[in-house]
Amino acid sequence: MPEIWVLRLGHRKSRDKRVSTHVGLVARAFGASGIIFSGEYDNQLLESLKKVVEKWGGPFQIIHEQNWKRVIKEKKNLGYLIVHLTMYGLNLPMIINEIRHKFYEERKNLLVIIGAEKVPGVVYELADYNVAIGNQPHSEVAALAVFLDWLFEGRELEREFKNAKLKIIPCKKGKKILKLSDNL
Ligand code: SAM
Repeated sequence: MPEIWVLRLGHRKSRDKRVSTHVGLVARAFGASGIIFSGEYDNQLLESLKKVVEKWGGPFQIIHEQNWKRVIKEKKNLGYLIVHLTMYGLNLPMIINEIRHKFYEERKNLLVIIGAEKVPGVVYELADYNVAIGNQPHSEVAALAVFLDWLFEGRELEREFKNAKLKIIPCKKGKKILKLSDNL
């Protein structure tokens, strides 16, 4: 299957710690191969997400890259489709079939961009698709989750993670956790 990378623009260490962590958690849990954080370098953010991968499995890569324009241009040169999530874009139901076709049939990798603060105008130009998850303001966490869920049509929820130390056994009540390693 082609890859999906998420590019999180404009992380601010003091303001965005929680939201950026949640963006990383959603990217991993909903089927992306990795996330690139741009903006302020935040070692705590990167380490906390790496710990989640160690415990709950992957593969999932976590990277910081200050030069987000270079990331977009490099991915574009590698043939990735650039999808920018923005409330100003074409609404998801209008465009998801086309993106899904390019992903599954044309085997196109995706770079999914989400913002924090005001997104620079050039991102709208560099994107192949500016996609709205409804044309109302909400959250990058919600936008990413809904986009990935519509792309995968729910299949991401059944994904198995590799090298996990812990695995949840779904149950009707209570909590069942399988310990797959003593090294916790
Ligand atoms: N005011 C900012 C701007 O001008 O782009 C938006 C800030 S919003 C809290 C942060 C990010 O959430 C946006 O950059 C976008 O990626 C995402 N987002 C928020 N609402 C969205 C929507 N309806 N559709 C798609 N993405 C959305």
